[in-house]
Amino acid sequence: MIKVLVIDDSDVLRRISVFNLKRANFEVHEAVDGLDGLEKMRGIKPDVVVLDVMMPNLDGFGVLKEMRDDPELSKIKVIMLTAKGGDDDADHAMKLGASKFLTKPFSPKNLVEAVNELAREQRA
Ligand SMILES: [Mg+2]
Repeated sequence: MIKVLVIDDSDVLRRISVFNLKRANFEVHEAVDGLDGLEKMRGIKPDVVVLDVMMPNLDGFGVLKEMRDDPELSKIKVIMLTAKGGDDDADHAMKLGASKFLTKPFSPKNLVEAVNELAREQRA
């Protein structure tokens, strides 16, 4: 089963992502901020991480940097969730190693498709 970790500090947005990914038959885990996300990532070893940018404690860019510098985490695919008008955020995320980005609000269908595509690449 494909494992997905959703890291988002917004309860509402996280629940929507988790609901839709579970419905698409992924094994879904969740974390409430960047530090929680990194800790859970090390245990779960997800195929794909869905990562919010703006979060307390450690933001999405901080998480990406940590992942890039950790051989255990550097191969995990990342979908970054950016705010509307955050084109610089998307650029920055891709430079730091994110594989895709989705601009909020995104459709559940796009999220599921993005996870499927990266999971296929990951397991190829
Ligand atoms: Mg946020």
